[in-house]
Amino acid sequence: MAVSYDVLKSPDNDWDQVWIGANIATMAGAAPYGSIDNAALAIKGERIAWIGAAAEGHCRAQAQGTNVRDAQGMWITPGLIDCHTHLVYGGNRVEEFEQRLAGASYEDIARAGGGIQSTVRATRSSSRDSLYESALARLKCLMAEGVTTIEIKSGYGLDLAAERRLLEVARDLGETLPISVKKTFLGLHSLPPEFAAQRQRFVDEVSGPWLTALAAAGLVDAVDSFCEGIAFSVPETEQFLRAAKKLELSSHVHAGQLSDIGAAQLAAKYAALSADHLEYLSAEGARAMAAAGTVAVLLPTAYFTLRQSTPPPISLLRNAGVPLAVATDSNPGTSPCTSILLALSMACTLFGLTPEEALTGVTRNAAQALGLSKDVGTIEVGKRADLAFWRIERPAQLCYGLGGNPCAAVMYRGKIRDL
Ligand SMILES: [Zn+2]
Repeated sequence: MAVSYDVLKSPDNDWDQVWIGANIATMAGAAPYGSIDNAALAIKGERIAWIGAAAEGHCRAQAQGTNVRDAQGMWITPGLIDCHTHLVYGGNRVEEFEQRLAGASYEDIARAGGGIQSTVRATRSSSRDSLYESALARLKCLMAEGVTTIEIKSGYGLDLAAERRLLEVARDLGETLPISVKKTFLGLHSLPPEFAAQRQRFVDEVSGPWLTALAAAGLVDAVDSFCEGIAFSVPETEQFLRAAKKLELSSHVHAGQLSDIGAAQLAAKYAALSADHLEYLSAEGARAMAAAGTVAVLLPTAYFTLRQSTPPPISLLRNAGVPLAVATDSNPGTSPCTSILLALSMACTLFGLTPEEALTGVTRNAAQALGLSKDVGTIEVGKRADLAFWRIERPAQLCYGLGGNPCAAVMYRGKIRDL
């Protein structure tokens, strides 16, 4: 080996742990999945310090007396990132599930006070503790599948106090558990009943005093709007995004889930981190997103639950060069999903992503969708040691299973975490 003993003993090599005998899907570089077979990975503190061949890693580790661990042929990927969830809410919508299967339409259910408004009522009447406990149960399912970063949106409170409570619960989850949480104020989700006759006043409140107060409390990493014919218009969403920009907050937009009203172009105009759903998207929208660097977040489990028939225009997005991410959209109505592996499978089977595109969508591109590319999303020197260890034969197996969980261990900030 062409490495001198002095180099091996240098402070740069002062590693805390070295993993050998792993196949690493770095999700960076030219090889499929950025993979390196029979690799070694060194960690110092909470950062990745070195990646290379297993033999050299072992040799360097022995020279400096570093603890060597054998991954026994497991695959290591970046910790997975679920970049679009509504994880914190009260109640559930299982009765509506039964009603729909018995023939009721969404309109029937909404007229009877169901839909988002029923979750708003359940959320407003829930205590902080019960919101925390129910979200915790869902979060543990995702964490067991290798998730180390999650985005959590508010949006089921729809008054300032309840929105604040949702964002505080999201913050508390991140501060209590070994996982990173990005908090998104989904201010424009649905018009609450008390503003039914005062639509513009609601948009003014959300974009003005509510956003200011929540941001001042450190509860807002980004904002989001459900920009859709049945929800909020392009001008209403623009008012909110403009207010967020003034506060130097990032944005996301629910765009093109049910129709194309130009939400993707608006997201691009404000350099939103992501436009999400995109079942209905024009070539112009895709071009604008590519030019702005806005990530397309695909939500196949919501598409599945709603039994939609028009998938997002994947070739259009690919050809335009828009980065594709995949997320669970975990929410009580349209995606009661707590499995990111199921979202991977459905991204391939329902939307036609390749397994490599899907896995990139919950690692590198999901990091970009949250503005975290410098820190997480790939296995590279200097990035955070957030890693998932898998008992699989090849990376595509993560997209192949329907049920089952091949995750053997998860490392967060350089420490193997207990689940
Ligand atoms: Zn959503």
